[in-house]
Amino acid sequence: MSEPILTIVVPCFNEEEMLPFTVVELKGLINEMVREGAISRQSKILFVDDGSKDETWKIIYKETIKNEFVRGLKLARNVGHQNALLAGLFTAKDMSDCIISIDADLQDDIAVIKEFVSKYKEGYDIVYGVRNKRETDTFFKRSTAQAFYKMMKVMGVNLVYNHADFRLMSKRAVEKLERFKEANMFLRGIVPLIGYTTTSVYYDRKERLAGTTKYPLKKMLSFAFDGITSFSIQPIRFVLFIGLTSFFGSLVFALYFLSLKIFGDTELGWTSLITSIWLIGGLQLIAVGLVGEYIGKIYKEVKSRPKYIIDIDTFSIPMPMHKSE
Ligand code: UDP
Ligand code: MG
Repeated sequence: MSEPILTIVVPCFNEEEMLPFTVVELKGLINEMVREGAISRQSKILFVDDGSKDETWKIIYKETIKNEFVRGLKLARNVGHQNALLAGLFTAKDMSDCIISIDADLQDDIAVIKEFVSKYKEGYDIVYGVRNKRETDTFFKRSTAQAFYKMMKVMGVNLVYNHADFRLMSKRAVEKLERFKEANMFLRGIVPLIGYTTTSVYYDRKERLAGTTKYPLKKMLSFAFDGITSFSIQPIRFVLFIGLTSFFGSLVFALYFLSLKIFGDTELGWTSLITSIWLIGGLQLIAVGLVGEYIGKIYKEVKSRPKYIIDIDTFSIPMPMHKSE
């Protein structure tokens, strides 16, 4: 068997501070692996510029001219980490045997990429990178992430614990991914749904060396919320359960108050009344809000808009004569 063609897909959003370092590290790794005969000479690093506002694309483009292993994909606007990743995976798949996705900040240890590839050669279609410890993340990030994994588990969603989007997928796995037509692609939840033989490789997560996180609290929360509502109908079942309980509970109370009235004790305050109005009103609002959330999702899905639009692609067409330099 000839050596596999590997493509490393790197989504980048305003990563000018980090990129020069990342490029050097990944180039070094690819060179080494090619020299060792672990991967084919046709292997590539594909940087996906997710509509950055800074010099990110310039840096990528210059590298594609200088180095045979580097390719770039410029998206027409910012579509978010997950969609940028998909753009890279789907662009790379035709010319790769296996694809690895990794963040531009190299918080994930690139040394285990070699292990990913040997697992692929052993016959695994999907290899997950799993963090051993997260001491380098802030306490806040760690605990919110933990709460997220726990909640997903309660909701019945099958996630690989402490795995972010650092993974290897075979060509056929990526091809299957294309058949998931949903607009909200939460990859950590979807990849396990593909099936095939999978395994995990463990590593220590490092600190971001330059630049700042592109996942501020607001994005993190919306990511988690999307993750839950795209994969689980547990929240809405829970609301239904509360609704039913409070409904039957209030029936019992009504009987009790009625019996008090019948047997002469008419001193019934308005407190119970007003409380129940607020309670039921609140419950109804929650329920309506949740239903709205799901309807919103359906609304998004039925439109089936493209998830990303490519502006420049130096992967499929190696050297475009393009003015954007
Ligand atoms: N990213 C992206 N589009 C976005 C936000 C982030 O492509 O809209 C990229 C970013 O450049 C990085 C990866 O997604 O390569 C993960 O982001 P980051 O490292 O900031 O997240 P964190 O590690 O803090 O969760
Ligand atoms: Mg990061």
